[in-house]
Amino acid sequence: MAMTDRVFRPRRRSVPVRVGHVVVGGDAPVVVQSMTNTDTADVKATTRQVAELARAGSEKVRITVNNAEAAAAVPRIRERLDMMGVSVPLIGDFHYNGHTLLADEPACAEALAKYRINPGNVGFGRKKDAQFAAIIEIALRHDKPVRIGANWGSLDQSLVAALMDENAARAEPWDAARVAREALIRSALDSAERARELGMGPEKIILSAKVSGVQELVAVYRDLAARCEYALHLGLTEAGIGSKGIVASSAALAVLLAEGIGDTIRISLTPEPDEPRTREVIVAQELLQTMGLRAFTPLVTACPGCGRTTSTFFQELAKTVQDHVRSRMPEWKLRHDGVENLTLAVMGCVVNGPGESKHANIGISLPGTGEAPVAPVFIDGVKAHTLRGERIADEFVGIIEDYVARTYPRRG
Ligand code: SF4
Repeated sequence: MAMTDRVFRPRRRSVPVRVGHVVVGGDAPVVVQSMTNTDTADVKATTRQVAELARAGSEKVRITVNNAEAAAAVPRIRERLDMMGVSVPLIGDFHYNGHTLLADEPACAEALAKYRINPGNVGFGRKKDAQFAAIIEIALRHDKPVRIGANWGSLDQSLVAALMDENAARAEPWDAARVAREALIRSALDSAERARELGMGPEKIILSAKVSGVQELVAVYRDLAARCEYALHLGLTEAGIGSKGIVASSAALAVLLAEGIGDTIRISLTPEPDEPRTREVIVAQELLQTMGLRAFTPLVTACPGCGRTTSTFFQELAKTVQDHVRSRMPEWKLRHDGVENLTLAVMGCVVNGPGESKHANIGISLPGTGEAPVAPVFIDGVKAHTLRGERIADEFVGIIEDYVARTYPRRG
């Protein structure tokens, strides 16, 4: 029995939604998605970034559709991606003017696989309901699903005011944080209800309710998950830059995923200068894989190093191996079934080296300070080679290549 079978709760039941060729919810695995940061009207740059995200493993890509130029670009982006053999579904992110853009550009409405609607800014005052209804009607006409994505930063203020009044009338009023959480959840659920009244089925609706605090996100999604059967998109909004963004997103999403909540995830990282946009895809994949929920690429277990290994060689070898595996995955995936489940270990000395190496499919225990300059290699728990000298890295990579070729049979 896998560790996750005992530790994690079973997945919450949700109604599956088809987004292009990708299924979100139901029994489908948790789906990874990402979002571009190019100007969508720049067809070349956006196509290139969508393709990069898809090749990194993003299974859906969201693009902003904020003006007529962006809406006109969407079908051209779709066409270019198809010509490149990139079939990843595109999701249009609409705020304020989505009803107009979708009505004026039917080719955009058709090229998108899903529309994201933010109920907090779909329209204001009396126009809100009509503009929301207009988007839902276009989605129905084109047979597209929607994500109703409420966000802490753009909450419907009229709903907040109404809930404040409701709260004031309670014998024991809730605190302000609970009222705000309720407003976010109600914004998503009430909008879904309106979509249902307009004729949209639950198999066309995904919900999200994003906040930027870890504790609040967990509280909001626990409540939302208990109150509906819609598929849920998880993400910590504005997670931040660098390790802070990764840790905050992982902390929040891991708690929810371990409770069986969440059908699709996005890690909203602010890229560091010169950092590739694909980082958010890799982090999402690594989160799901380290939790044992999905397998995308062989992962390398490496010890952190300590005073018993003063050389940097084992760090360099761990990086060489991880980089090699990532660079080889696009080809391996096509030729070797199951290779994503391969496990590797690179360890720094004899203390935990042989033990950890034996748990991996292929592990190497490098010599620590003062140890004999030899590196035993274990394959499926059995010592199979002893490497030494200058070519340890090359020989270890060669052993990995041999193992993949032997163990994971070629398709067709
Ligand atoms: S395996 Fe050895 S080098 Fe690595 S952390 Fe443990 S004691 Fe230190």
